[in-house]
Amino acid sequence: MSSIQYKALKRMHDILPPDIYIWQKVEAVGREIFSSYGFQEVRTPVAESTSVFTRSIGENTDIVEKEMYTFLDKGDRSISLRPEGTASVVRCYVEKNLHTLPSPQKFYYTGPMFRYERPQSGRFRQFYQIGVEAFGDPGPRIDAEVISMLRHCLEKIGLKEIIFNVNSIGCPDCRPVYREKLLGFFAGGLDRLCPDCNRRYHTNPLRILDCKVDRCVETRKGAPKVTDYLCEVCRTHFSSLLLFLELLGVSYIVNPDMVRGLDYYTRTTFEVTSKNLGAQNAVAAGGRYDRLVKEFGGPETPAIGFAIGMERIIELLKSSASHDFPRPDVFIAAIGELAAGESLVVADRLRTKGFWVEVGEAENSLKSQLRRADRLSSKYVFIIGDEELKAGRLKWKKLADSSQGDISMFEITDFLRLQSS
Ligand code: ATP
Ligand code: MG
Repeated sequence: MSSIQYKALKRMHDILPPDIYIWQKVEAVGREIFSSYGFQEVRTPVAESTSVFTRSIGENTDIVEKEMYTFLDKGDRSISLRPEGTASVVRCYVEKNLHTLPSPQKFYYTGPMFRYERPQSGRFRQFYQIGVEAFGDPGPRIDAEVISMLRHCLEKIGLKEIIFNVNSIGCPDCRPVYREKLLGFFAGGLDRLCPDCNRRYHTNPLRILDCKVDRCVETRKGAPKVTDYLCEVCRTHFSSLLLFLELLGVSYIVNPDMVRGLDYYTRTTFEVTSKNLGAQNAVAAGGRYDRLVKEFGGPETPAIGFAIGMERIIELLKSSASHDFPRPDVFIAAIGELAAGESLVVADRLRTKGFWVEVGEAENSLKSQLRRADRLSSKYVFIIGDEELKAGRLKWKKLADSSQGDISMFEITDFLRLQSS
């Protein structure tokens, strides 16, 4: 039988040590900061009925048109892997009647998302997001809080040179007026827009502002700005948001071209970009979606959220800083049969105290055990031989500076605690 070479699917990747420690650190920072703002974790399934996504994200968006992993299950139901987190959380919010709980309800999630994207740097087909959703508060104060929370999070993670782009894309009252203006502006120049934008002109003209194709960027110069067409209520909402952001010390730029790729947004939208990434430079993005809960059959409920793209954050962290990775606290080398047994007992005891302990293979020479301790970059080596055993003591060695000594078996926990404090 010939052996088959298995490979992970294209643009789906394994995450291994030591990188996994950077992932864990970012997740831990997210949990800590979100909790301090009263956001609680929810976990929803990675697959949902396809209509959960098509209805919310929008039929004419790139995600729904081209990027969803959709299949029929064995009961002939159309199922999709989630391409983003908000739709699932809203489905859950409505299904579980969470709107009957006191407002606002604030949630966060982490996990893999799936989009069948064209392979290019910064885009994966399974990628991870960590995101938040707050239900029941129309803003704009909470909009500012959520954006400030994102700022704290990215700062604590250690990202530098990031830009907060904010915008308001209006509401069902004022957006149609703006849409007409935009259609009027592009009407004479359709031949200068890419085929996708020609389609968007009829289905979703705001998306033309988001297109990365050079000639579309050129053609849209001088296009009407959404912020000039906001109704009174949206305008006040947006100017108050900017005021609160200033109060909180969040530096931002108003970017009227930033319309976001999903249909469900209303009013506030925002995106954080990094100067240190290539073309796919958005590390986090979000916005307000005041109509979505109703769309799912719930009561009218304003809401706002964002999602951080983990891969792009990790790439930035890897290129900008050196990282300390965890390593064993102790490696126990044993010489002889009795000592080998004792090394297991000592290791077990230390592990219950929270230390990372590795045990050497007593049938190997001391030299080869020490070599392994070195390869593992263990902070300490304990050596137990028959003689030490009789005396109830062991030898210790600190690999960083080769200092050494011997201590009583009873003192090792205190010894390690003292060293690591
Ligand atoms: P982009 O314009 O970069 O495609 P998007 O508008 O499709 O982004 P969102 O749906 O808002 O992205 O997702 C929020 C964040 O998730 C993005 O800012 C990005 O950091 C990350 N992200 C989105 N798609 C991918 C992907 N295919 N691979 C890796 N990260 C992604
Ligand atoms: Mg995208």
